[in-house]
Amino acid sequence: MEAYFTDKANEWVIADQTRLKQVLINLVTNAIKYNKPNGLVKFYVELDEAKVKFHIEDEGIGIPSEHHGSIFNPFYRLNMENNFFVEGTGIGLSVAKEMTELMNGKITLTSELNEGSHFVVTLPRAELNSEPIDYAPNNAKRKIAFNTIKVLYVEDNIANLKLMQRIVENMDGVTLVQTQFGERAVALALNESPDIILLDLNLPDIDGFEVLKRIKKEKELSEIPIIAVTAHAMPEDQAKIKLAGFDSFIPKPIEIERLISELERLTRK
Ligand code: MN
Repeated sequence: MEAYFTDKANEWVIADQTRLKQVLINLVTNAIKYNKPNGLVKFYVELDEAKVKFHIEDEGIGIPSEHHGSIFNPFYRLNMENNFFVEGTGIGLSVAKEMTELMNGKITLTSELNEGSHFVVTLPRAELNSEPIDYAPNNAKRKIAFNTIKVLYVEDNIANLKLMQRIVENMDGVTLVQTQFGERAVALALNESPDIILLDLNLPDIDGFEVLKRIKKEKELSEIPIIAVTAHAMPEDQAKIKLAGFDSFIPKPIEIERLISELERLTRK
């Protein structure tokens, strides 16, 4: 990984800090994940009169041009068949694009098969005396009509836990309780009485299926909807998840819109 800046590095961009970070982390994560072995990932910033351009380049297998239109679709996953067992984190390209556009920016892609990929995130450049921009109209669009729900998220991957905290920060009326251990999930659920449980299937101690069994055994917890969160979301995995008694599943990398709609659907009373 190589990151470099021009000598004019002390520049400002007009953006929502959290969203910009999520977008760039997403693109850099993909660039690393889909790179060739020992390939280089470059991250650098280019300035022009009115714009700041963040460049993310990899030396991976690239994306054939006929996919350039669909790669930003919500259900498109890069090289899914080859990388299925890579546990993803992050917001997904469709959400990255949406977030960037909400900030009056754009994401472009140049890539050829076997030549690597080059993403550019372009955002308006700020003067130091620029007025802060209120993204409230866009935030309002994402505000959720929850009447205070408590979510228990059982997940061992720190990046996913942090991502979930970020997502929940942007929602009204959602409290989050988290643990990294399946063994602790039942006791925590008994103490906290969550309205819904998000359960990573692959945990360091006992797996998500075992956690589900233990939760369902507790009479006070047996009605709480439980969503499996997993990178393994092929049809046969989905069948297994359904059969085990999960109410739903959310594939990793987590798409924010999918998460929100599932939380809304399953906590509606
Ligand atoms: Mn895990």
